[in-house]
Amino acid sequence: MAQSTNEINWQEVGEETITRLQGLLRLDTRNPPGNEIRAAEYLRSLLEAEGISGEIVGPSSDRGTFIARLRGDGSASPLLLMSHTDVVAVEPEKWTHDPFSGDIADGFIYGRGALDMKHMVTMEAMTMLLLKRSGARLKRDVIFMAAADEEVGGYQGAGWVVEHRPELIQSEYALNEGGGIGFEINGRRYYPVQTAEKGTVRFRIRTYGKPGHGSVPHHENAILKLAAILVKFTPDLLPVHFTDTLRGYIAAIASKQPPDIAQSLHAVLDDETTADAAIERLPLDESLKLRMHAMLRNTVTPTILDAGSQINVIPSEAEASIDGRNLPGWTPEMFLQELRSALDSDAEITLLEPSTPLQADIQSPLFNTIKDVLKERDPEAAAIPFLLTGGTDAKHVTKLGTKVYGFAPGLYAGAGEGRRVHSHDERISIRSLQWGVRVLYEVVERFASGT
Ligand SMILES: [Zn+2]
Repeated sequence: MAQSTNEINWQEVGEETITRLQGLLRLDTRNPPGNEIRAAEYLRSLLEAEGISGEIVGPSSDRGTFIARLRGDGSASPLLLMSHTDVVAVEPEKWTHDPFSGDIADGFIYGRGALDMKHMVTMEAMTMLLLKRSGARLKRDVIFMAAADEEVGGYQGAGWVVEHRPELIQSEYALNEGGGIGFEINGRRYYPVQTAEKGTVRFRIRTYGKPGHGSVPHHENAILKLAAILVKFTPDLLPVHFTDTLRGYIAAIASKQPPDIAQSLHAVLDDETTADAAIERLPLDESLKLRMHAMLRNTVTPTILDAGSQINVIPSEAEASIDGRNLPGWTPEMFLQELRSALDSDAEITLLEPSTPLQADIQSPLFNTIKDVLKERDPEAAAIPFLLTGGTDAKHVTKLGTKVYGFAPGLYAGAGEGRRVHSHDERISIRSLQWGVRVLYEVVERFASGT
């Protein structure tokens, strides 16, 4: 049933997208243990039914990652549509709908993974089907990868593929989760496109003291030594460092704001030493300010304490685990050094499992295509580059030299909708899903066919 691109019936596509997403939400792929093979088989049969063949790969029979490819004429390098099919745990009693039902109520589809990220899996799968159905003339191969295991680090999914079957996904550009959902600042609308991602560096700080009886206090208590260090961990412990993404982010937000606010925004970029104070003066909501402070610097947050085993015994050791996130351009060793000098302490600090921060160009052809399509689908809004303070599978795929952009398009659904990710009653609005699938398709079709 060949149809040209401009003959796509978006009403029908919208209905089909809902059904496909519901089917995916009904598969329990909570990780751990994962069982992503369920989603991999579902997607394989969906694509194979229309002549797009693919392969399920992975370290074991239950942890499948599905990869398929539409061939272009080879005159440009491939584009990868990447996603993950695993989801995080649920507390079903706190949901108003069964988290694996795909229930529809009040214009929303409910289910674990509705926003993170089975909606994007579905939109990417639909994009593959629509490219095939419309007989789009592609210059670039378009590769589809629905990976296992992202929520626990991706080593059984995208990481495994990069290590063992890189030829299946080798590409110049990729679209991934991490951005795309519209949001508002002072009534102006923006679509974030993730161009950078922080790395993860875990630290362990250990102090040593003298043991003793709890009834005889002394100054060599390991807990007191640790506490004296931990009080220094305020959100602004580490200094500000501007990045390209941050400059682009502030400039793009300012471009849609009235002159006075725009000016205050630009003032953030005047000087690294006054940036925090400039943010505090902005008439923005607190959660956005907190995110901005975090985007400006390497961050360190104490998350686990471990000391002592009995209430009447002074322990000889105390330990804190620190969740650290580094900016693009910062190696774990540079980060450790910055932390040491900020703490001004000779405590034992150990580096654990670092991952590398990422940054893609904020002026690329793919980013420009995203901007062009958004301009047509929501003329009032602006696309803005942004730095994700968390991590995604991009950390694996960029090892192959791929430029990864986080863009899972969706409509602004009101303050608080985004907080449902990893929380109760995760849901996506039907309007948003149907708008998103069209935007994604148009970006991919235009970019891969080079028109
Ligand atoms: Zn995710």
